[in-house]
Amino acid sequence: ALKAPDATTGVVCGYCSTGCGLTVHLREGEAVNLSPSADYPVNLGMACPKGWEALTVLEADDRATTPLLRGDDGIRRPVDWHTAMETFAARFKSIQAEHGNESVAYLSTGQIATEEMALLGAVAKFGMGIKHGDGNTRQCMATAVVAYKQAFGFDAPPYTYQDFEESDCIVLVGSNLCIAHPIMWERVMKNRNAPEIVVVDPRRTETAVSATLHLQARPKTDLVLFYGLANLMIERGWVDRSFVEAHTSGFDDYARFVRRFGLLSVAYETGLEAQQIEHLAELIHRKKRVSFWWTMGVNQSHEGVRTAQAIINLALLTGNIGRPGTGANSITGQCNAMGSRLFSNTTNLLGGHDFADPLHRSKVAGVLEIPEDRIPTQAGWTYDRIVDGIREGKIRGLWVIATNPAHSWIHQQDFRQLLGTLDFLVVQDMYSSTETALAADLLLPAAGWGEKEGTFINSERRVGLIKKVRRAPGQALSDFHIFKLAAHYYGCGEMFKRWESPESIFQILKALSANQPCDFTGIRDYRSLDEARGIQWPYPEGAADLSSQRRLFADGRFYHADGRARFVFENPRPMGESPDDEYPFLLLTGRGSASQWHTQTRTAKSGVLRKLYPAELHAEIHPADARWLGIGPGQAMIVESRRGRVHAKAFVTPTVGQGQVFLPMHDPVTNTLTYPDFDPNSRQPAYKGCAVRIRSE
Ligand code: SF4
Repeated sequence: ALKAPDATTGVVCGYCSTGCGLTVHLREGEAVNLSPSADYPVNLGMACPKGWEALTVLEADDRATTPLLRGDDGIRRPVDWHTAMETFAARFKSIQAEHGNESVAYLSTGQIATEEMALLGAVAKFGMGIKHGDGNTRQCMATAVVAYKQAFGFDAPPYTYQDFEESDCIVLVGSNLCIAHPIMWERVMKNRNAPEIVVVDPRRTETAVSATLHLQARPKTDLVLFYGLANLMIERGWVDRSFVEAHTSGFDDYARFVRRFGLLSVAYETGLEAQQIEHLAELIHRKKRVSFWWTMGVNQSHEGVRTAQAIINLALLTGNIGRPGTGANSITGQCNAMGSRLFSNTTNLLGGHDFADPLHRSKVAGVLEIPEDRIPTQAGWTYDRIVDGIREGKIRGLWVIATNPAHSWIHQQDFRQLLGTLDFLVVQDMYSSTETALAADLLLPAAGWGEKEGTFINSERRVGLIKKVRRAPGQALSDFHIFKLAAHYYGCGEMFKRWESPESIFQILKALSANQPCDFTGIRDYRSLDEARGIQWPYPEGAADLSSQRRLFADGRFYHADGRARFVFENPRPMGESPDDEYPFLLLTGRGSASQWHTQTRTAKSGVLRKLYPAELHAEIHPADARWLGIGPGQAMIVESRRGRVHAKAFVTPTVGQGQVFLPMHDPVTNTLTYPDFDPNSRQPAYKGCAVRIRSE
């Protein structure tokens, strides 16, 4: 029976980067229900189906409740935490003793609290001597990180969500905001300026259908399109000269570079009408507050960094940055991708510092009170390089935390085979049934969102609080506790004795953030964060601006030493695998529904969410292609690449262009098809382009 609540408390949602506030209804301190928080400045009383169902999925039958250890007979049996962690330390230490510190690596996540990922990064790199660790944020945000660092001097998305409401022209690139970030889309719907909504996307997505202008460019021609737009605007004198001269460098070189992207050749390459491109250029010129937004359609590309920078360049050359309703704005994916970007100790040294900078190493060593020589002098391998390291036999032990790469990594079969070659695989997860958890030699049961405390940082840089509102099942422990045990059993627990609770780690992270662009030394503690309903960085001690919506670069100063933003550009490059006579279709992958999340580890556990999304795999195919192949609506078909084949029902629809097929990323088999191509600058996988062929079954 439903229990009547006797109290409520506010937390932020644990799925996507929107970071909605949720009010949890408590009975004797335990969560019995939840509703969206009306007073939270992010979601203003709204939530998507995933948020509404956040408590349900914690009750699933396949929650990991006890450590499981594989015996010599190949069977996994329950063990106590002491045995589990003794084995963890003994096996990884023996691999390191035999093959070097480099031979053990970890893969983590943007789904755990900032304090937890900082503890993991510190224990692994400074305590256990692990050199290589990366996160699943490599699969979603690495491109934006590199693009911002090179253009602005720091990984700093400049916007606040209010910009959705204040723009008079919103340009969405490779973003299906309606279903991927439904609450952000609701913020667009609250815009009272009758904005132009422009969508650049090869698919006629839910968002494209709702736009005032949809540019259905050929897949992976967006970089050419943005160079062409820049050239057109420069030719016509539609440049904010005073902004460019005062706040940027490299414009003249950029103007020379884009001359080769003439209107007619860009129209030919993108498949767009020249008038459509001219119309968009004119809109950007004419409108006063233009905001540019991008997400996975750009990030998960073979040239994502340069595409993101071509978008940034458009904002710079038109002076659309630092003012309300403007910006070159990357929308993050996971609830704590921003926390991971700054505090996971993988690409950056804790706090957005640089491993290679001796001053940064010295500052971090001082704050943490650890010997400076424990800090590596360079970042470890990226995710794809770790995967190659397994292939080469250099990585022999792997620790996977709160991510499911056996489903989500590009060219999945290859990754699964490689998992089988490891000497020891440890998986730490809430659920025992993920594809990766099933492969583990040692499974460590973890508490989930709602069962522990900490902070997340959302897309608009807002630090928000999560709280323990129910007990984790069985023997499951918070990731914080598991990392503390790892340090203890590895013999380096002393180094982390000050890291005694998530909130004490928060105080350490504050000190690490001091004088960085992400400085949040002005946030006193968890209580003040709770009272403020989340706080955006930067928020230094004594911050003058305490408003609830704050954007960056209002003063025109960027984070490079000279204070100027950079125009960064490069010639377009070909995709790793393009359609040919044998495999004539291009496969696009992406989010299939607002009700589902990534590999469905959590969302498939809710009956309500399952009903909102078809259980059978559907492939979108254009009517003309379906006719040519003799495939009718709902008919069984096979989609096949050089790496594998999948069975799907035909969804005959003009949402995709001719020669394209779309599969949702949530299905376990989609990544059996994808081709392992990577952006050379960010090493982010290019999930949205590989060659396939199709036939009826
Ligand atoms: Fe949670 Fe994102 Fe849905 Fe908001 S939009 S309720 S943060 S999943």
